[in-house]
Amino acid sequence: MALLDILEHPDPRLRLRAEPVAAFDETLGRFVEDLLETLYSTDAIGLSAPQVGDRRNVLVMDLSETRTTPEVYINPEIGSKSGFGLVEESCLSVPGVTGNVVRAVTLSVSAQDRSGTFFDRELTGMHSVCLQHEMDHLEGKLFIDRLPMLEKLRLRFFSRPTGLGVGAS
Ligand code: ZN
Repeated sequence: MALLDILEHPDPRLRLRAEPVAAFDETLGRFVEDLLETLYSTDAIGLSAPQVGDRRNVLVMDLSETRTTPEVYINPEIGSKSGFGLVEESCLSVPGVTGNVVRAVTLSVSAQDRSGTFFDRELTGMHSVCLQHEMDHLEGKLFIDRLPMLEKLRLRFFSRPTGLGVGAS
């Protein structure tokens, strides 16, 4: 097992779309373990492959208090969504920034586990929010893309005082 480096905005690799996983082999198993170990080295509840510079369509989450209930979603697809709410989010790849994003409260998701077996799950509350946040990463999106324009402007002017025009996203 190994800790993976977490990329930070505006690294262009965070903007790449992940590619479907076809080979459910030992290499994938090792990658999932590394992704989980990296997640557990932080205080975050979810981590996606693009955040460690990997193009595979993989995300992991653990919302348990004891950090002993890993969830692995490979090639996830959201079915239905219902009940929308405003949620305050942050992201390991956008350090020091929090913002309110509209997310579905409940959703159904289909995905594969690390051995390739398909499963369907219904998620609600923070579970649902976390999955939507991580699935955004798989599409090359960040939660700051979803903030209202005024909020984006505020971040541009106040969170990067020396970075104006340098490495702009
Ligand atoms: Zn994130």
